[in-house]
Order: sequence, then structure tokens, then C-alpha cells
Amino acid sequence: MLSDMKTTLSIQQIEQRIGQIKAELAALGDMRPGSLSKQYNVCGKSGCRCKDPENPQRHGPYYQLSWVHGGKSTTQFVRRPFLPLVKAELATYKTFRRLTDEWVELALRAAKMKLEAAKEAAKAASK
Ligand SMILES: [Zn+2]
Repeated sequence: MLSDMKTTLSIQQIEQRIGQIKAELAALGDMRPGSLSKQYNVCGKSGCRCKDPENPQRHGPYYQLSWVHGGKSTTQFVRRPFLPLVKAELATYKTFRRLTDEWVELALRAAKMKLEAAKEAAKAASK
């Protein structure tokens, strides 16, 4: 990750990595933001196992997907057959975020280096 990246990366190396990131982003499949949680419920039926006084066994797990987008938070249930798909999409979104964060980090670094190089060039020209 970024923390172990040498500060001595050249602009060329940074631009090369950004090129790789673009290719990795283009190769990503379906994605969605959010996180999954498990829920267990108690129903309304009398004498149901979920209300057993000795050993209550609540119904579930039910899987709930929550996410925030555009400042709006949403929660929906996910049926069990869709879990693998949803998990894959959540993982893809994490990869997407990691790659874009890295791109921004590299872009900031490259911008700073270019600015410093321009200052050096101006200083050299004024001599
Ligand atoms: Zn029940």
C-alpha cells in the first residue's frame, strides 16, 4: 500500500502506476457500496420455537444490506441465494475505493513534484 511506497518514486513511476490503476479499474465488474449484517427475529406465532421459555431459537439469520449514497442511508433485506453475488459486489466496491484512493494519493504527489520542478526550473532560469 501507500505507506511503504518510497518517497523517491519518480514522476514516470507514478504515472506508470496510475496507468495500471486505470487498467485495474476498467477491469472491475459489478459493484455496490455497503455492508451486510445478520438479523434474528421473533415472530408472532404462539408456541413457536422462537418463544420457547427454555431455549428460544429466533428465526434467521436474515441478511440486511445497508449503504449510504448521496447522503441517504438505505437498508434492504437480501435473500440467501443472492448473498454470494452481493458479497462479490461489495468486495469489488472496496477494491474500487482502494484504487481511487491510491490514484488520488499519487496524483497529489505528482502535482507537488511537478510544482517543485517548475520552481526549480524558474530559479535556474533567473540565474
Ligand atoms: Zn417464531
